[in-house]
Amino acid sequence: MIIEKIAESRFNDSVFESKVFGKNFTDHMLVATYKDGQWSEPKIMPYGPLEFTPAAMAFHYGQAIFEGMKAYKNENDEVFIFRPEKNFERFNLSAERLNMPTIPEEIFMDGIKTIVDLDRQWVPKNYGTSLYIRPTMFATEEAVSARASNEYMFVVLLAYAPNYYDKPLSVKIADYFSRSAQGGVGFAKCAGNYAASFYPATQAQKEGYDQVIWTDSIEHKYIEEAGTMNVMVRIGDKLLTAPTSERILNGVTRDSILTLAKDAGLDVEVRPISVQEMYDAHKEGQLKEVFGCGTAVVINAYNAVGFGEERAEIELLSETESFASILKNKLKDIQYGLIEDPYGWRI
Ligand code: PMP
Repeated sequence: MIIEKIAESRFNDSVFESKVFGKNFTDHMLVATYKDGQWSEPKIMPYGPLEFTPAAMAFHYGQAIFEGMKAYKNENDEVFIFRPEKNFERFNLSAERLNMPTIPEEIFMDGIKTIVDLDRQWVPKNYGTSLYIRPTMFATEEAVSARASNEYMFVVLLAYAPNYYDKPLSVKIADYFSRSAQGGVGFAKCAGNYAASFYPATQAQKEGYDQVIWTDSIEHKYIEEAGTMNVMVRIGDKLLTAPTSERILNGVTRDSILTLAKDAGLDVEVRPISVQEMYDAHKEGQLKEVFGCGTAVVINAYNAVGFGEERAEIELLSETESFASILKNKLKDIQYGLIEDPYGWRI
């Protein structure tokens, strides 16, 4: 790995006062290029603009994938990355589906460990704050020709992640738009999935909702994800979430929450959840919690769900009663190294 260090660090403590996510990039970035069937030696260099031709194929045909994970610092200034091997696996699944080359483990894992270590002063220590790690790969071949590119760039960016004040959100259950289809790319973390979700989200906002709960694309009968998070529902004392599939991203947070919930003895069911079942539970006063889970916020509670024209308000439970709060606190305590990590999730 080639390492070209920045002449003078741009770091100062005011970075940690920022409330903005994904804008405060660290001193360095990692870059590797793919050409003639081979990955170059990765290079860590000062963060800054790169030059692209407007004919770079990613701009035209959308071969672009990414990942998102976080690094945390404990009281002893030790830095942890949370389950990065899951992101590595998912990155290569996305690459395969988008007809892009997979990335070798040495470049992805060793590259990330090295750059996070180099920029470790940018990893904040306050509970709730972290350093966001964004690996991405995109097509760079200069050609306007609708086929898979022969050249790619892999880049890792690091950005300060402030403590989210995760206010409860309202979500509308999709009854027309879809984010994914069977045989499609829903399970891949490809840029186009997000591009396609913004319009439906904006429409939902016009109807007074913050986000969309995505449903199956055929009948809009089963709930699948929420915004850019996996979705969980508590009916009575059962915690439910949909099984992952070709249409659903296999979230690392979802998987971790399921493990914690099962180990805490909660009644967990991974099975399809119909909109009708949720609606009926609401009518019977049994729809206790609905929440999204993902790396950015860990868990975000929903306080209203839109079923067609009907807006169902969900009263938030207290910290000690809410599965969402209990599981979120437990997961964060593991991420920040406050409690033992029996699962080996902290790297
Ligand atoms: N679904 C979608 C569509 C996402 O973009 C994300 C965020 N990566 C998630 C679910 C949650 O995944 P994770 O817990 O791995 O962040």
